[in-house]
Amino acid sequence: MDLLVLGSGIAGLSTAIHAARRGWSVAIVTKGDLVHSATWYAQGGVAAALDAPDSTELHESDTLVAGAGLCDVDAVHVLVTEGPRRVRELMELGAQFDMRDGALELAIEGGHSLPRVVHAGGDATGAEIERALGDAATGLGAIAVHERCFSVDLIVAGGRCVGVTAIGADGVTREFRAGHTVLATGGAGQLFSVTTNPAVSTGDGLAMALRAGVAVTDVEFMQFHPTAMDDPRMPRPLLSEALRGDGAVLRDEHGVRFMVDEHERADLAPRDVVARAIARRMVDRGLDHLWLDTTSIPDFPERFPTIFASAQRAGLDPRTDFLPVAPAAHYLSGGVATDLDGASTLPGLWACGEAACSGVHGANRLASNSLLDGLVFAPRIVEAIAAGKDGPEATGVLRGVALDEPAIVAPAPPVGAVTLGELQHAMTVGAGVLRDAASLGAVAEVVAVDVPTPDIAGHELRNLLTVARTLVAAATAREESRGTHTRLDFPATSDSFAGRFVGRGGPLTFVPLPAEVRA
Ligand SMILES: Cc1cc2nc3c(=O)[nH]c(=O)nc-3n(C[C@H](O)[C@H](O)[C@H](O)COP(=O)(O)OP(=O)(O)OC[C@H]3O[C@@H](n4cnc5c(N)ncnc54)[C@H](O)[C@@H]3O)c2cc1C
Repeated sequence: MDLLVLGSGIAGLSTAIHAARRGWSVAIVTKGDLVHSATWYAQGGVAAALDAPDSTELHESDTLVAGAGLCDVDAVHVLVTEGPRRVRELMELGAQFDMRDGALELAIEGGHSLPRVVHAGGDATGAEIERALGDAATGLGAIAVHERCFSVDLIVAGGRCVGVTAIGADGVTREFRAGHTVLATGGAGQLFSVTTNPAVSTGDGLAMALRAGVAVTDVEFMQFHPTAMDDPRMPRPLLSEALRGDGAVLRDEHGVRFMVDEHERADLAPRDVVARAIARRMVDRGLDHLWLDTTSIPDFPERFPTIFASAQRAGLDPRTDFLPVAPAAHYLSGGVATDLDGASTLPGLWACGEAACSGVHGANRLASNSLLDGLVFAPRIVEAIAAGKDGPEATGVLRGVALDEPAIVAPAPPVGAVTLGELQHAMTVGAGVLRDAASLGAVAEVVAVDVPTPDIAGHELRNLLTVARTLVAAATAREESRGTHTRLDFPATSDSFAGRFVGRGGPLTFVPLPAEVRA
């Protein structure tokens, strides 16, 4: 097989489609049904500078501001300049975005200078993208799709990745071997007890990479979405930032608008600013939620049908009621460290989408840039392989990362007893929106074990523990506050930490970012 793709969200499906169109033999291994992914849940949309008065320069500067000094400027340039073409390609493939008066309807979200977010079905963008990509992938006979097939570990031979072991729908473990393997396994929101991520987001790809000694970076930067609905349902129903783009405002328990005192963009401040403002008030005042006032939004049921239905299921009417909100783990900005073509430090292994760290998000992802990240970097992998590239280069996030050392596999910790609920609780209390040395120390003790893997749930828990150890180690080492990483004991941003913590399953290495590539 030419290409093995792990995962079938926007990143995995885009990679597979581009490869199959070149006539390659391609297999997708995905642990749920084809469309079961975080992508399917995406509401707000895809950000791209499609037409004047917007420009790639403006999109670039908004992305860099949100990234709080840790974006890789080359990666961001690739994202914003190649983004518009990839969005148009997605439309040619059949994705139907919302139109008004014959033109794409654009929404504004936090951190964006002007409306540039295309959306579908009002607030059902991800479902429409998965439908379109899923139809295209299954329509191409060249892609073999293995659903309910769980990738366990990378197979490494002769210093390169040659495939994976996976447990099939029949419960049998088998090997998939390929010339190139792409990790597109998504994020790790299930690390936390309150998350917007679906059950499949258990950091499997990152854990597989860490167990194989592949470089992973920036995982301390877990983005917490400020406005998940405070509701017993998990994943937490998301109240998209596009609501605030359309006029919704945050209010405290007395009905006071507090974001106007926090940031010049008020309710449309970058996500980390809003999440911190809410979390601080919740902690200081002993509250479990604040409020989102959506009552000024015209045509709510038509513009946001998914959110309207979700609020109604909670007995609320967004046209008249304030909606209870609290931050929830939402997006992992870090991941498998890749160069500008998606190559990881292990030849034969590539990564894209949320599982990867291409450098475009820095310390804080700009809203609606993650679907774009998958759309842009997936085809770059295929184009690089087609051009004969076979290993990583010192570009993007891999600049400054040792590339010529053989991967050394770190010893596994002792097997212990920790449940998923205990892990999620410890992470939420110790490594959540607000952290300090003591809280991180406490969670480090909880995650210092491996667990038995008698079934897929056991594998997922072991993977979450593996990712948690690197996340907690990096969050402990980063003695500053920056982007989505808020240390109560180190509230200021420090130039000493203008760089990345890179882990390969063992101790972390700090790689300073040269001034010319950060912003
Ligand atoms: C509620 C919600 C709303 C969002 N809204 C937006 C938005 O409006 N705009 C935006 O840009 N971003 C949004 N995001 C973020 C965005 O949806 C994700 O970052 C993006 O979809 C990730 O795509 P992906 O292909 O990398 O991963 P995913 O879509 O998560 O796909 C991962 C795939 O890997 C598979 N997989 C995982 N582990 C294994 C394994 N061990 N073996 C086999 N298969 C495996 C999964 O089954 C899945 O198919 C939102 C996220 C959520 C949760």
